Amino acid sequence: MHEISIISYVIDMVEEQCIKNNITKVAKVILQIGEFSCIDNSSIDFIFKEMSSGSCCEGAKLIIEKLLSKAYCYNCHKEFPLKITNKKCPICNHVSSEITSGYEILLYRIEGE
Ligand SMILES: [Zn+2]
Repeated sequence: MHEISIISYVIDMVEEQCIKNNITKVAKVILQIGEFSCIDNSSIDFIFKEMSSGSCCEGAKLIIEKLLSKAYCYNCHKEFPLKITNKKCPICNHVSSEITSGYEILLYRIEGE
């Protein structure tokens, strides 16, 4: 399952950060997820709870922030906000297939002590 590999990757990254920053207990894990990545928020919460037990993430709150999608227009040399139903540049109406964000999954921040 897609979500399991994401969470195991996130927990690995958080543990690495904990070691680097001397954090023993994580209170919050904030993830930024592109709006086009197919992530099921409710299952990701559950998987995180299951998989974080026994790690420094145990009991931490998982917060997911959606990132808006953007595409790059080669005509105007600008990024514009993208909708899945509309990939046209708002300035020149050129259709862009150069999606610059929307599919990423980033560990944005952790909070702990
Ligand atoms: Zn344009």
